Amino acid sequence: MAWLEPIELDGRRGYRVRPPGGDETLREFPVATKADVAAAIARARQAAVSWNATPVRERVAIVDRAVEVLVENQEKYVDVISGETGRSTVETQFMSIFAACDAMNYYARRAASVLGDESVSLHLLKIKKATVAYHPLGVVGIITPWNGPFQLSMNPTVQALLAGNCVLLKPSEVTPGCGELVGEIFREAGLPEGVLQVLLGDGETGAALVSGGVDKISFTGSVATGRKIGAACGEQLIPCTLELGGKDPAVVLEDADLDRAVRGVTFAGLMNAGQFCAGTERVYVVESVADEFIDKLTEHMQGLRLGDDIGPCISQAQLAIVKRHVDGAVLDGAVLRCGGEVEGPYFQPTVLTQVTHEMAVMSEETFGPVLPVMIVDDAEHAVRMANDTRYGLGATVWTKNKARGEALARRIKAGSVCVNDSVITYGVLEVPFGGRGDSGVGAVNGAHALRGWSFAQPILTDRLGQKDEQHWYPYTQETADGLKKAIKVLWGSALRRLL
Ligand code: NAD
Repeated sequence: MAWLEPIELDGRRGYRVRPPGGDETLREFPVATKADVAAAIARARQAAVSWNATPVRERVAIVDRAVEVLVENQEKYVDVISGETGRSTVETQFMSIFAACDAMNYYARRAASVLGDESVSLHLLKIKKATVAYHPLGVVGIITPWNGPFQLSMNPTVQALLAGNCVLLKPSEVTPGCGELVGEIFREAGLPEGVLQVLLGDGETGAALVSGGVDKISFTGSVATGRKIGAACGEQLIPCTLELGGKDPAVVLEDADLDRAVRGVTFAGLMNAGQFCAGTERVYVVESVADEFIDKLTEHMQGLRLGDDIGPCISQAQLAIVKRHVDGAVLDGAVLRCGGEVEGPYFQPTVLTQVTHEMAVMSEETFGPVLPVMIVDDAEHAVRMANDTRYGLGATVWTKNKARGEALARRIKAGSVCVNDSVITYGVLEVPFGGRGDSGVGAVNGAHALRGWSFAQPILTDRLGQKDEQHWYPYTQETADGLKKAIKVLWGSALRRLL
């Protein structure tokens, strides 16, 4: 029996959602059609007339109430999220509720200063006044995956709303309830009708949203879908951010604190049952400490409990991918140090050695509780291998020499790198989070991301009100001579250092 089952509901295509590995029906829903999406966009356009013009402080007040709703109802929401994803209570509290409260409050506290008018001091044209105004884009679409279904829906939604946009949120068909929660929280917080609408559906609904005439798309999901969405947004000349998959390397150097490295790499590789975009998917350990590291890693992984520590995989399809990667590697000469098997809805924590980059487990996103470990000669070899990938989302470096770790981090082709830590960059709201290469386009956190939900409009005003400017018509020899002289004075002398 499939955990997500296609069904027909009143003559419409729909889905029945079950918990990973469970029998009970959590919900059934019809897929929103192209016509449904068009109607929702039309409602959002109407709502945008007043929401776009609502002062930031009023938007902030609603987000503040939404945080209160979330805090007050956290237990109920944990049940919904854990029910759909199979995550433990602790993992849901940490990844979903804690992270969402922090993001909502963080952006609410900073919205007025980040989105307020910015007065810019000009380096050259001192006789002009410059102000940058940040306007809402209008109506935006947010399409999210199943693997962080609540937080990855809430974070872009709260940013887009604070920036004054109306939002159409299309959560994954695998975890529709997590997306609906976002709508429910804002409804209870008093967000006006039509400002946030949640559209349940699958790829068909998402595609209709992307081509439906919205003003921006924020997409988090697979590379294959990201490519289609990027192409569709390019066609319409609308902005998009694409947060896609990864194959994050961990580099363990000979001077690493091996106990911390083992525990950190394991957490990064296995959190969310390994279904984490910026989780560790491959490990490079320097030869001199390789045996000790691999022994400790295997022992630590063998001590993890299915169900308590490691949750179920989200779907049979996901389990099949993990099994295919592990079996394929073993067939091609990899050595299984522990795990390797499916157990009900779980995949056993798995360590593989003697792996090569020709194996899918080292080159494609596995998204399971699997750590393939390759022994490298030294740090240089590790960097070469870490960069031998089409992805570039995250990476970790483990060494007691922090300066060395930070220097190495700069040489790894990754959107972000942690030194002696893991899995924290998405939660560090001050810094941009985004991928390079096939891992995506754009970044989703920080002031830059919040402003990414706006159109930045410079307004330049003349201060002096003279009758004429030197470069206006008619062009004369006197103008040419004046410009020549100005160019020489400004950039042909030491004055340029002041500009
Ligand atoms: P997916 O691409 O299959 O689906 C993601 C969303 O896109 C879903 O809501 C889906 O219904 C929708 N969709 C599917 N086809 C579409 C189309 N043609 N047009 C518009 N929308 C469409 O991804 P998934 O399996 O749900 O998620 C897992 C993937 O997401 C992994 O690759 C993971 O690494 C990635 N991910 C990346 C980040 C990040 O921040 N970089 C975060 C989480 C997950």
